[in-house]
Amino acid sequence: MKDQNRHSWETSTKLNHPKDVPLTPGNKPLIAPVYLSAKYTPSESEPYWDQFIYSRISNPTTRQLEESLAEIQNKEDCLVFSSGIGALSLTFLSLLKEGDHMISFRELYKPARNFIKSVLPEYGIEYTLLSVNALEELEKAIKPNTRLIHFESPTNPNLELTDIEAILKIAHKNNILVSMDGTFGGPHQHTEFNLDLMIHSLTKFANGHGDVIAGSVAGSRKLMAKIRERCMYFGASLDPQAAYLIQRGLKTYKLRYEHQSRSSLEVARFLSSHPMVKWVRHPGLTEHPLSHQMKDHGSVIAFELDQKLKLTADEFCHRLGFIQLAASLGSTETIICPSDIFFGQDLSAQEKAEMKINSFTLRLSIGLEDPRDIISDLSLALGK
Ligand SMILES: *Cc1c(COP(=O)(O)O)cnc(C)c1O
Repeated sequence: MKDQNRHSWETSTKLNHPKDVPLTPGNKPLIAPVYLSAKYTPSESEPYWDQFIYSRISNPTTRQLEESLAEIQNKEDCLVFSSGIGALSLTFLSLLKEGDHMISFRELYKPARNFIKSVLPEYGIEYTLLSVNALEELEKAIKPNTRLIHFESPTNPNLELTDIEAILKIAHKNNILVSMDGTFGGPHQHTEFNLDLMIHSLTKFANGHGDVIAGSVAGSRKLMAKIRERCMYFGASLDPQAAYLIQRGLKTYKLRYEHQSRSSLEVARFLSSHPMVKWVRHPGLTEHPLSHQMKDHGSVIAFELDQKLKLTADEFCHRLGFIQLAASLGSTETIICPSDIFFGQDLSAQEKAEMKINSFTLRLSIGLEDPRDIISDLSLALGK
């Protein structure tokens, strides 16, 4: 800015062009500032489009978050979005076109399943939904126009573990891209697999404090360039203040995740020994043939109340104390929700029966409270 004439400006001109506060080279803030500016004046000495121009397209604060997420996930590049479902739906729309086919699984976050079932066909994109427990069907479901296989592990809400290697082997033999929604495992896990794309809801463990909605997709530079180009038109960019909160949340991410994994295992053990609980699922509870896929087990537990208790899942939620009925997971507070009401409404009775989703099943996400207090809260509602 050329401001030699500053002294002669009127008040409103001065207020709209405040003085720069330059830092001595080498004098840096320890924590990167939040760049709220929507626009940037480019330097004359470089091509404009190699620089920050407009925050919908790129912003130094969201870029720092993308770099952190790419780095910990072992991927070349990452793009952040204004929600996890935005990351999923816009990745699908960026990679698929009319006449293409994708394969996914019924054990999927409900809005993602609904997007595949109801929205993609309106754009002329076909789908097949299988079960993660019947991967022998996968190869047969591949068609000449199959472009993408998408899955979760662990799955929402009932924590099935999906055989990642089995999917990758079949997909890559047939030249099909694979995307995984790794939200339940968090961004530090499953990084050793050759997944083309890893998608996360950053709303959950990455931010970890329940005050931001965001998502990300990470992959090779080439694939991400394609998605980035398309997403410029979709416009679901993340706000820099939200990006900053996630960057801050990530500083304690590993501590939180490991602590929540330990506490949730304690709670899962308590529930599995309780006479009013029919079954419990938690990735750390029993030797699962795929448990090596996870270093840490995460905070989420699925379980079913015994009908002797004479409470539905919904009624049970309202008997609890500080554990409250709420959507989401991976936050600092322990929260619980009835899985049928939250995740089963679009499924048939037979699908729900096979997937163990009914009026007595619950999804519980363990927070950072003392596990003894969590257990005693559950214990009271279970009738001791
Ligand atoms: C929450 C969630 C999403 C969606 O993320 P939002 O940030 O809420 O849009 C996607 N996948 C899974 C597995 C989730 O739990």
